[in-house]
Amino acid sequence: KKMNVALCGLGIYAKLLAEGIRVSEYCHLAGIVTGTPAKAAEWKAKYNIPEKNIYNYENFDEIINNKDIDLVYVVLPNGLHKEFVIRSAKAGKHVITEKPMANTVKDCEEMIKACADHKVQLAIGYRLHYEPTHLEIKRLGQEKVFGKVRYIESSLGYKTYDTLDTTTIVDINDRNEWRLNKKLSGGGPLMDLGIYCIQISRYTLGEEPIAVTAQYGTVNNKNRFSETEESISWQMEFPSGATANCNTSCGYNIDRFYATADEGFFELSPALSYGPYEGRTSQKQLKFPPILQQKTQMDEICKLLLENKKLPNHIAGEEGLKDMKVINAIYKAADTGKKISIS
Ligand code: NAD
Repeated sequence: KKMNVALCGLGIYAKLLAEGIRVSEYCHLAGIVTGTPAKAAEWKAKYNIPEKNIYNYENFDEIINNKDIDLVYVVLPNGLHKEFVIRSAKAGKHVITEKPMANTVKDCEEMIKACADHKVQLAIGYRLHYEPTHLEIKRLGQEKVFGKVRYIESSLGYKTYDTLDTTTIVDINDRNEWRLNKKLSGGGPLMDLGIYCIQISRYTLGEEPIAVTAQYGTVNNKNRFSETEESISWQMEFPSGATANCNTSCGYNIDRFYATADEGFFELSPALSYGPYEGRTSQKQLKFPPILQQKTQMDEICKLLLENKKLPNHIAGEEGLKDMKVINAIYKAADTGKKISIS
């Protein structure tokens, strides 16, 4: 048996997930949830999806009666994750939601509670937790292969507009521009991309940050970035004394990771995008054959669900909540100019 998955939201990332599921050993794309009838028809034909497994955002709750769907994967704008995770839980379906888990710490807590109350499991789409290069980075850091890690640098940014054109007015209510709309995105590149820098710092050290400082970067396009930041830098302090210096932006391209330890270093560039990744340690090159991350992620999660096993902490709802607490503290630090402690 395979887990029968319904993808909720059929945007750009859902397409990558669908291709991963198509070749997966432990799951099958059985259903879709979309607000666009034309997309429903297209996906129905492409993935051979039965009409009875196609929902829209209004009739979605009827999925409770559909025994042919075991799991819902929410791939909607961040601000809609909470609603659809809770609706999936109420329908008795296991649920995966994309990163960032939600817009606020409170929302994450409500999502975790709803899944626990309805006895379904919740996972966050942290694809890098299954990628060999990243598993090696985690091992090098947590097993102290080069001694204690003292300092990390990590940045992820994409140039999302023409920096010379500062006059075009962007309609932040345009559905395609939901990342610029605070209600739908929860914030700017920190929510979308910077979360990967937080993640890699946390899994390299195997520790949780205890305090952060942060600074917003230059706003080159005030029309585009009227609600969300264009760039932000932040610093994290960890209990061992290690620190991390990170940056994320929608105004320039950057994708790197560097960790220095007592007896060496390890680094990746590119580090956090879809790969392939390339890097080195103070001793050798770091390069692993690329994998289809979405397939591996879905296989690992669905295999455990089929065996009725608990999903591991590093991809569970609690992990999403931890990142959200850090993100929350970073915004507070940037807003106030003060160092913010994380309890
Ligand atoms: P997208 O804009 O391509 O897709 C969003 C989908 O949501 C669209 O199909 C859109 O029609 C639908 N939608 C429903 N209600 C909407 C509304 N009110 N406003 C706007 N769109 C609405 O976005 P995406 O890049 O696919 O991102 C979706 C989620 O996936 C986000 O949470 C994002 O952070 C996450 N994501 C994760 C990765 C990853 O590598 N894990 C990569 C990309 C995106």
